[in-house]
Amino acid sequence: MSRYIFVTGGVCSSLGKGVAASSIANLLEGHGLSVHMVKIDPYINVDAGTMNPYQHGEVYVTDDGAETDLDLGNYSRFTDSPLSRDNSITTGQVYQEVIRQEREGRFLGRTVQVIPHITDEIKRRILKIGERPGVDVTIVEIGGTVGDIESIPFLEAARQFIHDPGKPNVLYIHLTLVPTVSMGELKTKPTQHSVKGLQELGIQPDILLCRAEVPLNDGLKKKISLFTNVEEDAVISAYNVKTTTYEIPVLFHGQGIDKIIIKKMGLDPESRNKKIKEWEKTINGYIASEKKVRIGIVGKYLELHDAYKSIFEALQHAGIALQRRVELVKFDSEKIETDSDRISGQVDGVLVPGGFGERGIEGMIRAAQFARTKGIPYFGICLGLQIMVIEFARHVLGLTEANSTEFAPHGCDPVVSLLEEQENVKVMGASMRLGSSPSFLKEGTRIKEVYRVPVIHERHRHRYEVSNRYRGPLEQGGLVMSGTTDNGELVESVEWKDHPWGIGVQFHPEFKSKPTAPHPLFKNFVEVCFRHA
Ligand code: GLN
Repeated sequence: MSRYIFVTGGVCSSLGKGVAASSIANLLEGHGLSVHMVKIDPYINVDAGTMNPYQHGEVYVTDDGAETDLDLGNYSRFTDSPLSRDNSITTGQVYQEVIRQEREGRFLGRTVQVIPHITDEIKRRILKIGERPGVDVTIVEIGGTVGDIESIPFLEAARQFIHDPGKPNVLYIHLTLVPTVSMGELKTKPTQHSVKGLQELGIQPDILLCRAEVPLNDGLKKKISLFTNVEEDAVISAYNVKTTTYEIPVLFHGQGIDKIIIKKMGLDPESRNKKIKEWEKTINGYIASEKKVRIGIVGKYLELHDAYKSIFEALQHAGIALQRRVELVKFDSEKIETDSDRISGQVDGVLVPGGFGERGIEGMIRAAQFARTKGIPYFGICLGLQIMVIEFARHVLGLTEANSTEFAPHGCDPVVSLLEEQENVKVMGASMRLGSSPSFLKEGTRIKEVYRVPVIHERHRHRYEVSNRYRGPLEQGGLVMSGTTDNGELVESVEWKDHPWGIGVQFHPEFKSKPTAPHPLFKNFVEVCFRHA
């Protein structure tokens, strides 16, 4: 039977609950335990797919095509937990299901209420993960902050686990903030209040993770322990790390959090955590590396780091493997529309990530042209591939009006356009080409050399495709169609001939990269950028 760990957050958002939950899972896996992860998002959207990146950061896509919260990306990078649609729960999904059952008449004349009907549906979804064969621990991260109206039903469902399966099979971990005020003094009051909020809902945390700029001293830990009824050694200091969030499992392990969990939950791990030493060595090598490689990111959601989270992480994974520090140089695509030479001399390679809508497109096209003509490595992901195709059609084939029908619905050369089946799609939710599917790589291409296998499986999230009407002319002009779907029907990747590195992919390789297993495309791109530097 699985044990259940609930991770809640207090005081304010963006304290790194996802990374904290992932780091704990990473440590338990190091002890040979099988850990599965669940993310709860208390918003009413059914999934993250319809949200602007500024609202909620990137949308993370699973193999089975679910559009989920970016924390699933953290789980995928720190752990081996299998992730699918079921690992992401939202208020929207829960209510949609309960209302569907009510309309079917399944409640037999009873009043349908938050407790027990909504909470039962929440528990059913959590148990569906925990009851998968062989799961030792299910970690459930509850999004939002204790005190939010939206998260109350989820916290109530979490509380009910005290009755069934009961202690020691359930454990509560609360992440809170210990802010610094003037003169560098750390303040515990917000933490005291936040724990009180949780206690009012009937949950006594077993472990506290205290986010602070600097380590907490023993006096502060003692004080927090006294006010919150959490044992002193279970007050963990989650202070700011220097270089990368991948240091956090090491930081937690140093304070014995894995031992505390194992003891409190009566777990019987196979091994002492030996993996953590290897993890630590890998990460320390990266921290110590001095040589830098500068990657220019040309996008439009750059003010929010989380909007391109998995891409930035995948670049870092390449850096970890190559022991080179990856420096991100961000270019707002709208600003370089008239001046792509601004990129010149500042970067060793250019990456154009995914995106939607017309804003900033011309700047991305300028950046691609600049990289192609100046022989600078270029990596185009999803929209970044479509940009490569538009740029090539305009400047090599001379189709000056070439565009995607996404940006110019009635343009005269739609080199990127909708598939017929997409033309009739009217609803926005979950209606794109989503999830993992095979791509077939052409012999003799750069991408085939990088992957070293003829068939790859990567995840998609897009609506538009390279138009088959223009494939012939593009190829004749010298744009290599290096990968396609099974029957050659759709273009999956393109590349520039006779260029140091110019690859565009219609899929999202960044979702499958891990710090301990960098994605081959990112690794090869960063390696070439470094040589080019
Ligand atoms: N907007 C483009 C499309 O829908 C690209 C999507 C993306 O970059 N994820 O096809």
